Amino acid sequence: MSLTDAYDPQNIFAKIIRGEAPCYTLYEDDDTLAFLDLFPQSYGHALVIPKRSAARNMLDVDTEALCKMMVTVQRVMRALVEELKPDGVQVAQFNGAPAGQTVFHIHFHVIPRFAGEGLGIHAAGKADPAELEALQARLVKRLQQGG
Ligand code: 5GP
Repeated sequence: MSLTDAYDPQNIFAKIIRGEAPCYTLYEDDDTLAFLDLFPQSYGHALVIPKRSAARNMLDVDTEALCKMMVTVQRVMRALVEELKPDGVQVAQFNGAPAGQTVFHIHFHVIPRFAGEGLGIHAAGKADPAELEALQARLVKRLQQGG
């Protein structure tokens, strides 16, 4: 998938937006959706996507959607920090397969980092559903409190 290929509406994040695939939602508004990564690289690894923008990457997303994503990235990051008390947070975004992108609907990774713990392998080990569910409940509660 090159940087300039056409947007594929059958990508997994498009299916999640349309309600055709499940996700562990953390936060949603008219323009953005935040949910847990199914193959987390750390405890609390979250993703933020635009709901209305059929964009593959930073080159083709409209500026307004991009700005709205960043507001949600900050909101989710604050909740992750308050709830999980990480020592750092990594925000990542990949454009094109050679850069590491595997799902071609633009997204930001929000990855809590804990001192002494390395980063897990990208898009590799699937998390335990019970763990994701418990984590979702904690973070949703925190986000509802305005965290
Ligand atoms: P990318 O490699 O495109 O930057 O990131 C895609 C991310 O989506 C990866 O971190 C991968 O673990 C995650 N992912 C892939 N498929 C699914 C899925 O079906 N549901 C969720 N929640 N995350 C997914």
